Amino acid sequence: MGLLKLLEQWPVVRQLKEGDALALGPAVQSPRSKALKPRIDEAEHVVQSICPYCAVGCGQLVYVKGGEVTHIEGDPASPISRGRLCPKGQASKSYVQSPLREYKVKYRRPYGTAWEELSLDDAMEMIARRIVDTRADTWEYETSDGAPANRTTAIAHLGGATLDNEENYLIKKLYTALGIVCVENQARI
Ligand code: SF4
Repeated sequence: MGLLKLLEQWPVVRQLKEGDALALGPAVQSPRSKALKPRIDEAEHVVQSICPYCAVGCGQLVYVKGGEVTHIEGDPASPISRGRLCPKGQASKSYVQSPLREYKVKYRRPYGTAWEELSLDDAMEMIARRIVDTRADTWEYETSDGAPANRTTAIAHLGGATLDNEENYLIKKLYTALGIVCVENQARI
């Protein structure tokens, strides 16, 4: 590197040359910090959304490029969260785009030691068959006092925090119709 080039990089020279006498602006930028860009810089549009993880319902801004989510951050316009997201909400981009996301049904048979992949049709058929058989085998028409029951306690459901209100509503409606009374959610345990 020539002497002149070296001199030009000297902060005092840069401050004077770039009119930044107090070194509060471009004179103190390294080549790396000059090249830095906000991660939302190349987004084509932004969509207002709600975090799917829990019942707090924090507001999110979802940045999109080429039909893919590029970044998610808190929405300052949300009266609930006012721009904030907890770590789960901050990480929710990976809910749609993680390379670890599963796209196949996983099944571990009784006493099995490894997961097997099932087609969705096979899994649905297996679940429907087990529900029908379990209801037939364990149906209670009455309680021990003789009051009407019409239920089975041999099937239970445990929901997860990524279920939204609408999904929970449909789940409870389905299970009530099936006579399943043991319905719980991970968020309450
Ligand atoms: S950001 Fe956190 S607190 Fe807010 S809805 Fe999502 S999971 Fe719940």
